[in-house]
Amino acid sequence: MGTITFCYDSNVRTAYKVRLCPTPEQAAVLNRTFGCVRVVWNRTLAWRRARYHGECVKTNFTQANAYLTAMKAFDDLAWLNEVSSVPLHQAIRHQQVAFSNFFADRARHPRHKSRNGRQSAEYTRSGFRWRDGTLTLAKMNVPLAFVWSWPDVDPAALDPTTVTVSKDPCGRWYASLAMDVADPEQAPAAGAAVGVDLGVTDFAVTSDGEKIANPRHLARRERNLAHYQRRMARKQRGSANRGEARAKVARAHRKVAAARADFLHKTSTRLVRDHDLIVIEDLNVRGMVGNRPLAKAISDCGWGAFRRMLEYKTAKHGRRLIVVDRWFPSSKTCSACGHLLASLSLSARTWQCPSCGTRHDRDVNAAKNILAAGRAVSACGADVRHSGSSRVRSAVKQEPRPARAGAPVLRRGE
Ligand SMILES: [Zn+2]
Repeated sequence: MGTITFCYDSNVRTAYKVRLCPTPEQAAVLNRTFGCVRVVWNRTLAWRRARYHGECVKTNFTQANAYLTAMKAFDDLAWLNEVSSVPLHQAIRHQQVAFSNFFADRARHPRHKSRNGRQSAEYTRSGFRWRDGTLTLAKMNVPLAFVWSWPDVDPAALDPTTVTVSKDPCGRWYASLAMDVADPEQAPAAGAAVGVDLGVTDFAVTSDGEKIANPRHLARRERNLAHYQRRMARKQRGSANRGEARAKVARAHRKVAAARADFLHKTSTRLVRDHDLIVIEDLNVRGMVGNRPLAKAISDCGWGAFRRMLEYKTAKHGRRLIVVDRWFPSSKTCSACGHLLASLSLSARTWQCPSCGTRHDRDVNAAKNILAAGRAVSACGADVRHSGSSRVRSAVKQEPRPARAGAPVLRRGE
């Protein structure tokens, strides 16, 4: 658990995730709300699907919202009126975003929500009251008890704009308090830039020659998880034993996720602290995950999460992140003279440039090229901060290729 900051519509927001201790009455209200959110999500999803396949029309936010109003009048769904309407509207809003992402080819098709997974409900300002560091949700008379784990932050001084209550499959309750932050904290200039090559053998290799290995304890926790998953598979469906086995899988899962998140946070924080400019390759994780054998290795590495952390942390601290095109031949180009090899086998860990004779470590050389490509983007300008993408000529290859600034740049120059 910790502070999470993320980038949202170019506003920097900070979120505090706290452990909740609801009373049995409050837990009942929340469970009922989760159920309603799930039903609203699933029914709206089914309705959209039917419209899309039957009438070939896409559903917009206004239409989906109107459908929610209609559902509340259905005889079998009258109980939707018993919970706060705010989380139900938020569910429609999130589904709309999920569909925009799907139609823009940025995400998978939104899925049915299961009662066995993580449950959540999001409250905007009209659905909760935050007063003197206490949180009261709509349809509740008393504040929710929670554990505050930041001794140097006074909760009474905060002004959350959104509260997301959730329950994980192990039955733990959380609330994530999100708030807008007016000004990013400017870190002192570090006077250094770095290129980062993400890999499978090592988690990452930097242009400074540092190899960041995947932590060993992660592999051990993953073996535990696999063990519990196999045990669960052998239990009969619907049996008490299976329920117990599922709880163990959920707990092992949470440990793997927490260990991975911890590693990614430490690594990204260090990179952002020590460098003014960070350049990474756009790996299109989603496309690569389609490749089965690589899929597990990649999703385990958490590259997508790592990139999002770099995005919001660079934005928060006034650093700069540049994402260079993934078709860029970073491995096969000599970072010393620019010579481009015709081919380089995946097993070749080192190679010697036939043109200038420099000996290269495969991954460090790739990271150096990534940094050079990023510097070229950085040098060509201030316009990168306004346009989402710009075509630039790279320093190392003779054809134009697109590059993107990964996050809004809050401060000019390095
Ligand atoms: Zn060379």
